[in-house]
Amino acid sequence: MEDCIFCKIIKGEIPSKTVYEDDKIIVFMSIGPATDGHLLVVPKKHIVTIMDMDMDTLSHMVTIIKEKMYPLLKEKLGCEGLTIGQNNDLGQEVKHFHIHLIPRYQGDNADVKYDHTKVSPIEEVFAKLQ
Ligand code: 5GP
Ligand code: ZN
Repeated sequence: MEDCIFCKIIKGEIPSKTVYEDDKIIVFMSIGPATDGHLLVVPKKHIVTIMDMDMDTLSHMVTIIKEKMYPLLKEKLGCEGLTIGQNNDLGQEVKHFHIHLIPRYQGDNADVKYDHTKVSPIEEVFAKLQ
């Protein structure tokens, strides 16, 4: 898709630090890393949110994360954990589906923090979800 930064990376029109690639997906370093080795796992097809992802590609992405990326990050960078994140629509800066792999290190302060002080009417919300 024109004007999509990740499509341009996939086509090789702009450079990226790619650590894995096959016919379906590409994995490259985030330009704004949360920790050392923050990677983005990206389908080669231009898809915006998880709602449009096909299960074959999604499951392939998870397989590569499990079998290749997390082992690579542990072996080469010595990370002690992996936080996985994925934004859809609101909060999604790049509108081309991607999964964040954030390697974790002791004292990295990269915990995903939510504001638990916000008061939410749990009973009311639960009722809406039925
Ligand atoms: P989002 O907010 O869409 O979930 O995350 C976007 C991710 O893409 C962020 O990690 C951001 O640093 C990364 N990013 C944005 N533009 C570029 C770019 O041009 N190159 C690379 N490698 N990463 C990018
Ligand atoms: Zn794209």
